[in-house]
Amino acid sequence: MKQYSAWKVFKNGLTGQKDWGRAWRDPEPKQAYDIVIVGGGLHGLATAFYLAKNHGLKNIAVLEKGWIGGGNAGRNTTIVRSNYMMPGNRQFYEHSLQLWEELSHELNYNVMFSQRAHVALFHSPGARDAYARRYNTMRLTGSDGELWGLEQLKNEIPHLNYNDARFPITGAAVQRRAGTARHDAVAWGYARAADQLGVDIIQNCEVTAVRRDGGRVHALQTSRGEIKAGKVGFAVAGNTTRLWQMADLGNLPIESHKLQAFVSEPLKPLLDHVVVFGVGGAHFYISQSDKGGMVFGGDLDWYKSYAQRGNLPIVQDTCEAAMSILPCLGRVRLLRHWSGVMDMTMDGSPFICKTPLKNLYLNAGWNYGGFKASPASGWYFADLIANDRPHEFIEHFSLDRFTRGVIIDERGAGPDPKLHG
Ligand SMILES: Cc1cc2nc3c(=O)[nH]c(=O)nc-3n(C[C@H](O)[C@H](O)[C@H](O)COP(=O)(O)OP(=O)(O)OC[C@H]3O[C@@H](n4cnc5c(N)ncnc54)[C@H](O)[C@@H]3O)c2cc1C
Repeated sequence: MKQYSAWKVFKNGLTGQKDWGRAWRDPEPKQAYDIVIVGGGLHGLATAFYLAKNHGLKNIAVLEKGWIGGGNAGRNTTIVRSNYMMPGNRQFYEHSLQLWEELSHELNYNVMFSQRAHVALFHSPGARDAYARRYNTMRLTGSDGELWGLEQLKNEIPHLNYNDARFPITGAAVQRRAGTARHDAVAWGYARAADQLGVDIIQNCEVTAVRRDGGRVHALQTSRGEIKAGKVGFAVAGNTTRLWQMADLGNLPIESHKLQAFVSEPLKPLLDHVVVFGVGGAHFYISQSDKGGMVFGGDLDWYKSYAQRGNLPIVQDTCEAAMSILPCLGRVRLLRHWSGVMDMTMDGSPFICKTPLKNLYLNAGWNYGGFKASPASGWYFADLIANDRPHEFIEHFSLDRFTRGVIIDERGAGPDPKLHG
C-alpha cells in the first residue's frame, strides 16, 4: 500500500492518475478470527485500527452488511466539538478532539478537519448563565471555550437575524477548536490505515445470527458463511437492538429513531462557523461545506424506526428553523436530504462496555453525536477489548449505570431517548 504525499499528487497529476492502486484490499472472509468487529461505520473501523496500532493485535476482521460508511458514518452533518461538562463525558470528548487534531497525519489521509469554531447561540440571560457554567468548567479542565456578546457575534457572523427573530439572539458560547470534517474521508482513512496493519475489511457481509456456547459467543452466522470469533465487538449504531436480540440478550435501554440532514445548492462563502441554536422546542445546526452547500439539520423524526428515510413534517420544521436564524437562505434551493438511524439511549450517553457474555463487547448509544466521538470511541473500545477491562475514562459508559443510578444526562432532558440531541 502506498503512502500518500504531495509528491505523489503532483506525479500522478502528470501521468493521468493511473498509479494510485487500491486503498484497501477486498479479502474473502476467513473461517475464524481472534477479534471480529460487527459494523463498518466509523466506530467499528476506528476500533479495528486502534486494536492493531495501539495493541499490536493481528487476525482482526470488520464485518459490514453493506459498504463501509454507508450508515450514519456517511450521513451526518460532521460537527466535531468537545463542549461537554459532565464527568465521564468531559475527558472522553476532549481526548477525541485532540485525536481529531492529528487524525490526517495519523492516518496519512486528509480527513479535511476544519477548526472553524462551534457557535451556540443563546437567547436569554438564563441560557447565558447555563452556558457560562458549562464553558467555565471546560476551561478549568483543559479545554477551550469563550462567551461572545452581541457586538462580537455581529462582527464575526453578520448574516444572522438580529432584527426580528422570534427568539432574539443575545450572544453565543463558542468553542474555537471545534469544527467539521469530511465524513466519508474519515471512514476511508480508518479503513485504509487498518487494512495496512492487516485488518480484513469485509463488505457485503451481514451478520444474521449469533451462535452462543453458554456464556460466550462461539461464532457469527453471516451472509457469507459462518465465522468463528475469539472476541466480538458490536459497533452497529442504529441496529444495535437487532444484534442484541440475535445474541438472545433481551432488550437494551436504546430506541432507534431517525434523523434527517439537508444540503442546499452550492453558494459563495457565506458562513465560516458552525452555528447552533436550541430554544422553545426548536433545534437547529448549520455549516457550509467546502463545496459551498449549506449543510443543516434539526430534530429527530420523533418516532421509532429502522428506516433510513425521513418525513416531510421535519423538512418543514427544519427549514422554518433555518429561516428564523438565516432569512437570507429563503430563496436558496434544497439539493438533497436524507436520514440515518440513531441509537438513542435513556440518558443521551453512550455504552462502551462489557456485556453479560464473556467475549462480547458493546459500543453503542451514540445518539446523534457519534461522529465527533469516533476517534476516542475506537481508541477506548479497542483498549476494552484488548485488556478486558474499561479504562477509567469510560468506566461510566456501562450498561449497569441505570441500575446503579449513575446516569450521565448532559442535556438534563430526563429518561426519554428522543429528547437527547
Ligand atoms: C443526519 C445525521 C446527522 C448527524 N450529525 C452529527 C454531527 O453533526 N456530529 C456528530 O458528532 N454526530 C452526528 N451524527 C451521529 C453520527 O453520525 C453517529 O452517531 C455515528 O456515525 C454512529 O457510529 P458509526 O459511524 O459507527 O455508525 P454507522 O455508520 O451507522 O455504522 C454501523 C454499521 O453497522 C452496519 N450493520 C448494521 N447491522 C449489521 C449487521 N447485522 N451485520 C453487519 N453490519 C451491520 C451498518 O450497515 C453500518 O454501516 C449524525 C447522524 C445523522 C444520521
